[in-house]
Amino acid sequence: MTDCVFCKIVAGQIPATKVTEDDACVAFMDIGQVNPGHVLVAAKLHAKDVYALDEAQAASIARTVVRVARAIRAAFAPQGLSVYQANGEAAGQTVLHYHVHLVPRYANDGMAFTWPVQNPPRAALEAHAARIRAAL
Ligand code: 5GP
Ligand code: ZN
Repeated sequence: MTDCVFCKIVAGQIPATKVTEDDACVAFMDIGQVNPGHVLVAAKLHAKDVYALDEAQAASIARTVVRVARAIRAAFAPQGLSVYQANGEAAGQTVLHYHVHLVPRYANDGMAFTWPVQNPPRAALEAHAARIRAAL
């Protein structure tokens, strides 16, 4: 999947601010931060959606989502955390490579997103990631 931006991140062909990784998945800061501390967890092998995951990918992603969620809680003390996946082209998904969003919530804003997302400089993403890594 040479056109896939997340496959390029996994291959180190474009930069990403990584939080943690294992054999099957990688967690990194979304460049478009819905809220500060927004992390994506993606399968390393290209799987276009939840149905395409194999057992090892599924287990790795689930474990990493839980670990990173706890670390975000420890690092940022948000009021809540939204964990969700995008749902394909019809839902406006821009990267068709399976990934889970972890978005800390800092206000009683329900499921609504605050638009536009922030595109912080790389140093700010690195600072967020460092706090989460320390909590891991
Ligand atoms: P979705 O497909 O889940 O709606 O959106 C894809 C997500 O990937 C977006 O939140 C977008 O900000 C993020 N994204 C797209 N390209 C890159 C990239 O090159 N690096 C990082 N870290 N995130 C990206
Ligand atoms: Zn891919």
